[in-house]
Amino acid sequence: MTEFDELAASARACRACSTVLPVEPRPVFQISPEARLLIAGQAPGSKVHASGIPFADASGARLREWMGVTEAEFYDARRTAILPIGFCYPGRAKGGDAPPRPECAKLWRNDLLALMPQIRLTLLVGTYAQHDALGPGRMTDRVRRFRDFLPDRFPLPHPSWRSHIWMRDNPWFEAEVLPELRASVRRAIGESRGGANASGMGSGRGQRMR
Ligand code: SF4
Repeated sequence: MTEFDELAASARACRACSTVLPVEPRPVFQISPEARLLIAGQAPGSKVHASGIPFADASGARLREWMGVTEAEFYDARRTAILPIGFCYPGRAKGGDAPPRPECAKLWRNDLLALMPQIRLTLLVGTYAQHDALGPGRMTDRVRRFRDFLPDRFPLPHPSWRSHIWMRDNPWFEAEVLPELRASVRRAIGESRGGANASGMGSGRGQRMR
């Protein structure tokens, strides 16, 4: 077993937050040392916690549509890694889900990222991922200035149902940002849509953890 596999297996088995989470910890992520695109989200929601499949919910469908990728491309771990700030569902808080647990970064996330050297582009999905990578700042301002962070980082809003309202108030996102996002994703993961390995289910060295 390689260092990558050992670390990934240990992260999958992590129960460090069992006394503070409202449900049994279930780390959900998708990784491979060959991945070229990283989706840095915030934490699984309740549906993803139940299924164990990252972004297997309405937010994921919206994110794939924004990115212009097929499900096969999205779930092909050898191309696309999905590593949120917090790996486990954090439960509810006032107005939505609780913040991602901070323990993951020190225990697993930083070391896993160090073992994925092929990452060309990181999508910073939502404020937590942006704060982690870029420090304090306003999400909308960063998305509007997305070119300042290219070619290796691309700030995005979280694709929750609220993004529908946000997009209505910020029409430049659909007109200016999404075409650039699709082009950047295409450059990172491959040449043409439809050319992805259709297995996409953590085959080979790619692993979907749940
Ligand atoms: S949130 Fe992170 S640190 Fe906490 S139990 Fe899950 S994987 Fe472990």
